[in-house]
Amino acid sequence: MPTVTMIGGGQLARMTHQAAIALGQRLRVLAEHPDDPAAQVSPEIVFGSHTDLAALRKAAVGSHALTFDHEGVPTEHLEALVAEGVNVQPPPEALVFAQDKLAMRVKLSELGLPVPAFAPVTTVEEAVRFGDEQGWRIVLKAVRGGYDGRGVWMPESADAAATIVADQLAHGVQLLAEAKVDLKRELSAMVARSPFGQAATWPVVQTVQRNGQCAVVIAPAPDLDDDLAAAAETLALNLARELGVVGAMAVELFETHDGKLLVNELAMRPHNSGHWGMDGARTGQFEQHLRAVLDYPLGDTSPLAPVTVMANILGAAEAPAMSMDERLHHLFARMPDAKVHMYGKGERPDRKIGHINILGDDVAAVREKAERAAHWMSHAVWTDGWDPHQ
Ligand code: ADP
Repeated sequence: MPTVTMIGGGQLARMTHQAAIALGQRLRVLAEHPDDPAAQVSPEIVFGSHTDLAALRKAAVGSHALTFDHEGVPTEHLEALVAEGVNVQPPPEALVFAQDKLAMRVKLSELGLPVPAFAPVTTVEEAVRFGDEQGWRIVLKAVRGGYDGRGVWMPESADAAATIVADQLAHGVQLLAEAKVDLKRELSAMVARSPFGQAATWPVVQTVQRNGQCAVVIAPAPDLDDDLAAAAETLALNLARELGVVGAMAVELFETHDGKLLVNELAMRPHNSGHWGMDGARTGQFEQHLRAVLDYPLGDTSPLAPVTVMANILGAAEAPAMSMDERLHHLFARMPDAKVHMYGKGERPDRKIGHINILGDDVAAVREKAERAAHWMSHAVWTDGWDPHQ
């Protein structure tokens, strides 16, 4: 059975390993530390940095496909691996559009796809000019390396922008500016594509962000117009084909108040907006990613319930005194249907340490339950004051 190498030892690699076990495969992981989420559970760990070509080579030896749980590997290293015969999936020519937000914006505009107005920022003056043009409704972004809202700033004046730009440029961070979209909500269209060219989408979901990071996902997106849903799935399928994507890809979208879609960013790997499918779809994203990078036929992505809500367990401002184990006991006592996925991470404020999936029929009820469960796991507090001892 094949060995797949995943670069990065985070929760995405940990959950991919779970799927690999069921398929009889081995997932080898390049991780930095023994306590990384995937390093805790996989027997085949290569320790090293994703920026070290020697470590990447070591992780790739004898593997049938090399793939990623993050976007951080330098493109030149990936090109070197490809030249040495490593089956890198997604290939570096595709992956660059998930690594480099400016390259992605340029490419998508060339393809005629809807993106917010944008401009590269290499000086304070360029940022100020763009801000003036956009009436100071702008977003500054690091071109590379941002995640979970880190590397995203929303200055509302020339002075504020000047401070951010000068500081970031001084630290060698490349920037772009884009128009701040007056958005109704955020959506994600997920697709997986194989080298053979087979592709499958999951239903378009709504993502709810807090403090710039994903907190809740509702699958499928409630009250989404059928035509808009079809347009989003078609956009994801076409983009996967045009860019030569292999594996799972999330297309993060903005839905505007006038019913239009704009592409925010791309992730070419399993993604937080696909975690609902571990319990809520016939084939979840982790299994599908493995099937895709190994060029197996893809799995059925049908939902298993009218609605699935995923709520991230985010570290509380102060970790509760009650142990995680005891919190889990209480959760299961109250909600036997809650599907819990913990990542083996320590609690830190706002850190993604796990997630909960709830399936059901009624969006509002399922969402309330999932959020209540996740809040309980983070804070050891029931938001409705429920007390098991009364
Ligand atoms: P990250 O790579 O850190 O996830 P994103 O580019 O997805 O960064 O931005 C993080 C969040 O910031 C988005 O989910 C969205 O809520 C908000 N945001 C980003 N770009 C824009 C924009 N052009 N207009 C309005 N909101 C935006």
